[in-house]
Amino acid sequence: MNLPNLKEAKKRENSPVETFDARNIKSDKFEGKYFYLRTYGCQMNVHDSEEIKGILSNLGFRQTDDYEKAHLIVMNTCAIRENAHDKVFGFLGRVKHLKKDKPDLIVCVGGCMTQEENVAETLKNKYPFVDIVFGTHNINDLGKLILEHQNKQDIEVYSIEGNIYENIEYKRDSKYTAWVNIMYGCDKFCTYCIVPYTRGKQRSRKMEDILDEVKDLKKAGYLEVTLLGQNVNAYGKDLSDGRDFATLLEEVAKIGIPRIRFVTSHPWDFTEEMIDVISKYDNIMPYIHLPLQSGSSRILKLMGRRYTKEEYLELFNKIKEAIPGVSITTDIIVGFPNETDEDFDETLDVVNKCQFDGAFTFIYSPREGTPAALIKDNISMEVKEERLQKLNKIINDYSLMHNKEYEGKTVKVLVTGMSEKGENKVCGYTETMKLVNIDGALNDIGKIIDVEISSAKSFSLDGKKVTFVNN
Ligand code: SF4
Repeated sequence: MNLPNLKEAKKRENSPVETFDARNIKSDKFEGKYFYLRTYGCQMNVHDSEEIKGILSNLGFRQTDDYEKAHLIVMNTCAIRENAHDKVFGFLGRVKHLKKDKPDLIVCVGGCMTQEENVAETLKNKYPFVDIVFGTHNINDLGKLILEHQNKQDIEVYSIEGNIYENIEYKRDSKYTAWVNIMYGCDKFCTYCIVPYTRGKQRSRKMEDILDEVKDLKKAGYLEVTLLGQNVNAYGKDLSDGRDFATLLEEVAKIGIPRIRFVTSHPWDFTEEMIDVISKYDNIMPYIHLPLQSGSSRILKLMGRRYTKEEYLELFNKIKEAIPGVSITTDIIVGFPNETDEDFDETLDVVNKCQFDGAFTFIYSPREGTPAALIKDNISMEVKEERLQKLNKIINDYSLMHNKEYEGKTVKVLVTGMSEKGENKVCGYTETMKLVNIDGALNDIGKIIDVEISSAKSFSLDGKKVTFVNN
């Protein structure tokens, strides 16, 4: 795939940008002005947006939820699915109208989509009112780009990954739970996935830097960290110190932060050592997201997933046996090219055997530039939708079945905020990552409390705070 090379691709260690540390520029130039940030896509983007918020705050901006009130708009885009593009271009249409009334408005577009072939060109030719286009490899330059912006469109998208920057001043969304990047990019090249092209090759952060960040978060009172990467299980494979994800997880656990999670896991890299570490430490949460994608070994091979149906089941059973009460969720794609009814039945067979706690299910759509896009997308939308509906029905039944097991039990919940399910209700997550809506307990936001579960639905639990009486 040809990545956009509007700027000549250059190794950042040789780039003039490199000599100027643009990470945490401070300025009062935009004091009293507002920014509006729109984030699309996965947790990685959500966390990148925390970096963007830090950068903008350092320039004096304050955040607004009303894009019409903003002096600067940033769109942090996603490239995983086609409709992500439509959403971005749809919103840009509204921004174009706004800019007619507010010519000084600064419009920035960044994220995975801008790393895709032709997107920067499209923004240049069809959306000239966009002021700044940046990519996933130079988020840290955004402050500099904004400060130096003149009247012409700035397109700064690099096709080569840069160095890993430390000491980023994130403005985190939560005071209790934090994302911690442990690596960037991915080397797996699953045939349907655009990530290795938009995020680049795998680069692991040094273990000491990750541990320092977790220690700082603990000091700041955070109760939960989620170690973040496209394929966390491959952590360290690009480093020369021989330390892997199991070692990192154990070191993080020893820091003593109450809750540790990690996403996302690729089954191919999931080792017995990791299972041992998870089962050994109480503060590593018994929740694993283990993407299956398909239950057919034939389709898995076409997807480049590197495991068979049998190997996935073997790993799944090992995890279930070693970690009592573990909850396992998954991702499944239906309608991959050449997926037959028999292949789909294999997927249902795995779902019935694993009885997942939950799943994100998707209809396959080709992403331009990936190897799978070269295979004819020969499954009709009607068949794809039929398969999705059938799959979702089974998945939801298993989710409800698992959730029902919680009724009458008392579980630990980290209360993260107000619930959308009514006034005087807060919400939070169990150790197994079940969403719980809780009556009362308004003062308990930011605490881990005991909750008695009164009823279960497919996607959430309801409960009441338990107050223990000392006799
Ligand atoms: S493991 Fe596969 S699906 Fe996941 S990010 Fe890497 S290439 Fe994409």
